[in-house]
Amino acid sequence: MPQYKKQPHILHLQQTLALSNSSSSSSLDSPSSCASPSVCSSTLIQDDSCTDSSYSFSGKSSSSYTSDSNPTSSSAYQERRMPQPGNDVAPAEGVTYVGIDTLQEQTRIKALRRGYSFNLIVVGRSGLGKSTMVNTLFKSSVARRKQGDKEPLPQTTEVKSVSASLTEGGVRLNLTVTDTPGFGDHVNNENCWEPIVNFIEDQYARYLKEEVKIERPLHIEDTRVHCCIYFIPPTGHSLSSLDVEVLQRLDKIVNVVPVIAKADTLTLEERMAFKERIRADLLDHGIQIYPVKEFEDIEDVHDNAKIRERLPFAVVGSTTWHDLHGKKVLGRRSNWGLVEVENKHHNDFAYLRDMIIRTHMQDLLDTTALRHYENFRRTKLTCKETLINGKDSDSDHVKDLNESNI
Ligand code: GDP
Ligand code: MG
Repeated sequence: MPQYKKQPHILHLQQTLALSNSSSSSSLDSPSSCASPSVCSSTLIQDDSCTDSSYSFSGKSSSSYTSDSNPTSSSAYQERRMPQPGNDVAPAEGVTYVGIDTLQEQTRIKALRRGYSFNLIVVGRSGLGKSTMVNTLFKSSVARRKQGDKEPLPQTTEVKSVSASLTEGGVRLNLTVTDTPGFGDHVNNENCWEPIVNFIEDQYARYLKEEVKIERPLHIEDTRVHCCIYFIPPTGHSLSSLDVEVLQRLDKIVNVVPVIAKADTLTLEERMAFKERIRADLLDHGIQIYPVKEFEDIEDVHDNAKIRERLPFAVVGSTTWHDLHGKKVLGRRSNWGLVEVENKHHNDFAYLRDMIIRTHMQDLLDTTALRHYENFRRTKLTCKETLINGKDSDSDHVKDLNESNI
């Protein structure tokens, strides 16, 4: 069973942010009652043996998942801030301790205080399980659905965002999930992707506008979309022309992770064959899905190759708990028994969760900033420069760029 970089939950973010991990960091970073990261990494579900967190909702359509543990006040933290007897390199005689070795800790504490922002968009036709999947991933009613009666089908694709603040082991994550109801639900789906593409680009434009200001804020609120989970219907055939058209547009502007929705409706053989066909289609149409080989770090080559073998992830979502030999598991009852959401032999949910949250969240943030946003920025600024150099700076185009986009 392939194991990616094992990191406990959101904590991986603070670890990846640090310049390099010291050997003591994993025990310091783990929730106080969870001695072993491997125990924690086996489940994202609230596990009493593994965390002292309490779970509560707050405010309008947002939830919070809080923990008492405060790493800044832990004794381990205090110890690491002080020069330790028996350090590898002792200060030379007559030289007092400078404290360069606390830089890593300072960076970490700053990042912890500020928290992280992660913005996710889910794209796919209605009823494919997008809301369920988001709730399964983050174990909270982030993407709440109206209970009971069905919402009327939007005439065009709508873009709706819901934010939640999740805290685990002292790490705060501001999560925004954007849903796209109405996408692909009509007989004529021409240009139904436009609101999605516009939304993603608007977030880049918003960021750029702040970034180029003479008086700019110290921290720009990051609303850029870091990951797009694209839901493919479990038809067992191949990608539809709509899927191809949309994916060809999205892969240029955002990290796209394709998933086969409701994988429990396909047999294991059907899933394998469907995956093969989708991978061939993606290749034929030149669609680049995350993680893109061309842009990966050398250290990630091995793990990413393992991930690519599984893509698109065949996932099952559920927020219903079932009793399995006295243990509570998330799952779905089907004709051939209970499909456990977290069981890697039953479906790829755990691989998707591990990649997005535990191993690649920092990389998704980096790739968004360094590749997708950078492309957008370069294009916009080049366009502006060309217009200024080539034309009257009072032209409508330049005014437009100045006022609305940049
Ligand atoms: P959305 O419109 O894409 O957000 O879909 P929802 O999350 O609202 O789910 C639509 C219906 O599909 C609900 O009845 C879910 O319980 C069900 N559903 C969600 N995920 C799965 C899955 O993995 N397998 C199966 N069989 N049903 C699912
Ligand atoms: Mg939904």
